[in-house]
Amino acid sequence: MPVIEKIENWKPGDHNSDTECYCGVKMPIRAMRIGFAPSWWHTKHGIEFGEKYVFDPDYRVETVRYKWAEFNRMYPDMNVGASDPEPAVIGINFANAAAAAAFGCEVIYPVNNYPLARHFADEDAVMRVKIPEDIENTFPYSEMISQIKYLNRKLGADRKPGIGKNGILNDAFSLRGDELFADLAEDNALGKRMMDMSLQFGLDLYDYNESIGIKGGGICLANCTAELIGPSMYEDWQLDYDREYAGYARKHGGGFVLHHCGDSFDDFIEVYKKLPNPVLVDVAQTAGVRKMLDAFPDSQVNIGFLSSWLMAATAADVRAYTERLMEESRGDWQRLSVVVADLDIYTPESHIQEVFDTIMRFM
Ligand SMILES: [Zn+2]
Repeated sequence: MPVIEKIENWKPGDHNSDTECYCGVKMPIRAMRIGFAPSWWHTKHGIEFGEKYVFDPDYRVETVRYKWAEFNRMYPDMNVGASDPEPAVIGINFANAAAAAAFGCEVIYPVNNYPLARHFADEDAVMRVKIPEDIENTFPYSEMISQIKYLNRKLGADRKPGIGKNGILNDAFSLRGDELFADLAEDNALGKRMMDMSLQFGLDLYDYNESIGIKGGGICLANCTAELIGPSMYEDWQLDYDREYAGYARKHGGGFVLHHCGDSFDDFIEVYKKLPNPVLVDVAQTAGVRKMLDAFPDSQVNIGFLSSWLMAATAADVRAYTERLMEESRGDWQRLSVVVADLDIYTPESHIQEVFDTIMRFM
């Protein structure tokens, strides 16, 4: 299953994303990922995101090399990045906007962030929207695919231009905005259409990936918006879709990641157990790690520090939380990863070192 392989087989210097950097030393836990928000790179290093970062693959590759060298310099004992990183095939990161853009939503390109999509303004526009049939020639996937092919040729690489989308409710919300919740509460045709299209497009993208030779690929059930509806509405409105999406990946030999970044993960545990087993459960630090490890005994778990919490935290807070995390997860460290990413300009960069040092004291 791809998500596990990616971490287990990772070697210092290996990366395929501009958003993360793995710590490459032997740790008591499975892995630690670190990163800064685009706003941090923009303010502290003048890196331009926006259209230049999206549409100029050469600029993006050079920028990512610069980032990896910077990680390497800032955290020398973590063995991240490299002092002179090799150029790598780095795809476009459309963040949460890819599927919405493919359905025709307007895309905004902030100079200090990844692209954002603006939902449709009215019901008529929503009713007219159709699932793109020719994915390879539909923006932004056309651009993502052609840039990977270009970088493969230039760098002598062979990365498959696999593509993905956001979660089922997440993407339906991207198209429709807040009105979606009223539609789903009324159980009307519009809400059902949004959810149906979001699922079908996910299955179509899976088929596309298979058609270019990606066998047994993984998917992500990204449930950022589940927080807005709570567990019982999730069960009524979304669970069946997620089961079908996850089941599709499984039937084709792949696994899935269950991502829930809201504060209420513990309230969702019972309903999430109605899904097939996730390869990885990816949650925020507000989740109870012991509860989660016990609820999903066959899954990897990923705890993400909240950037807003880190911003306000002292070094002692960071140390105390990390110690508690390690104590509560004792016995299951081989299933635990932590993510300290999306730090913004007001967060001390030393918090990353503090988490690392605290974890290493448990060796
Ligand atoms: Zn999320």
